[in-house]
Amino acid sequence: RKAKLVAERDLPSVTRGGRRIVLRANIATPSDAQAALTARAEGVGLLRTELPFLDARSWPSYAQHTAALVPVFRRLAHQPVTVRTLDFADDKLPPFLAGEGGRIGRGLPLMLAEPDAFADQFRAILTAGAATDLRIMIPMVASADELAVCRDLLAKAAVDVGVAPPPLGAMIELPEAVADIDSIAAAADFLSIGSNDLTCQVLGLDRRDPAATPAMAAHPDVQAAIGEVVTAAHRRQLLVSVCGDAAADAEVIPLLVALGCDILSVAPSAVDEVRAHIRQLAD
Ligand code: PEP
Ligand code: MG
Repeated sequence: RKAKLVAERDLPSVTRGGRRIVLRANIATPSDAQAALTARAEGVGLLRTELPFLDARSWPSYAQHTAALVPVFRRLAHQPVTVRTLDFADDKLPPFLAGEGGRIGRGLPLMLAEPDAFADQFRAILTAGAATDLRIMIPMVASADELAVCRDLLAKAAVDVGVAPPPLGAMIELPEAVADIDSIAAAADFLSIGSNDLTCQVLGLDRRDPAATPAMAAHPDVQAAIGEVVTAAHRRQLLVSVCGDAAADAEVIPLLVALGCDILSVAPSAVDEVRAHIRQLAD
């Protein structure tokens, strides 16, 4: 079976009904980037950037971001690469933020309270990613206003670096974002559904609870939320990706495709299976 999947790597991810689903990879390290290329993912739908800094004692500097990013980007010249800004949340929390207690869980307000730290990361991404087809996305967006502040910081960083600002997207993983989805869609260039967090948030589960599985994204309340996101995005001609683990779940994939999701972004090790799954859908 593995050999058969490998042999199909150059076949397009199209359903039997002719719907083209773009298949991207979730990565964090240079070896993930290599694995994504080997599996013929169509670029990167989620580059997690917080993982090198989970033991950090302060906000990472421009030089530290650059040192982490360059080995990843080096393998991805000309590929679409969607870089997520730091997502320090309670399941990924460095010691210097551990004292923030109840404010954690929503890393974006913390980051917005440190505009210089945010600007350092934007400048590092823009410089290190200059040879890729770059997009930037913001985790845990709760409102269009937050995304507008991010766009401002990104625009200034782009001027500093001397490049055009890349497309800016919002991750939709909070119920507040779903409630405000029309304004967020109006402020964004693309949307990406973080089904890991969104599922837990909608169903009131703790992210660290082993009972919280990717398959729970099939719950009608989660499906309804995803449907609202797709409708709002498509009304504005924005593409919607799903980058949580539900995008690689055999029970959830057909539901996501039926709801109109345009892009699935999955672990490099899941790319072959998900391509095969899409290719046998009737849709
Ligand atoms: C998600 O929440 O679905 C997601 C993709 O991000 P993370 O798992 O890093 O929170
Ligand atoms: Mg998340």
